[in-house]
Amino acid sequence: MRRPPHVPIRTCVVCRTPGDKRGLLRVVRTAEMGTAFDATGKANGRGAYVCAAAACIELARKQKRLDRSLKATVGAEVFDALLSRVSPPEGQ
Ligand SMILES: [Zn+2]
Repeated sequence: MRRPPHVPIRTCVVCRTPGDKRGLLRVVRTAEMGTAFDATGKANGRGAYVCAAAACIELARKQKRLDRSLKATVGAEVFDALLSRVSPPEGQ
């Protein structure tokens, strides 16, 4: 048995899809600011990821997936920021 390489795997808190195929958005919890959308993906703090897809973001909001993952309340402005990053389907 070979151990897998130590690579942090990012998965969507809703659908558990790993990687960034669809583009994962990061939400970070910091001591200073509470929860916030982390546009850089590099902010210090505990992070959680959700697909850049409206369906996953809406489910995360309804089911409080990000709140649970971060053990903090994720405000409406964070979800608004996430939704603003969702690209509409192309060519339709
Ligand atoms: Zn997802």
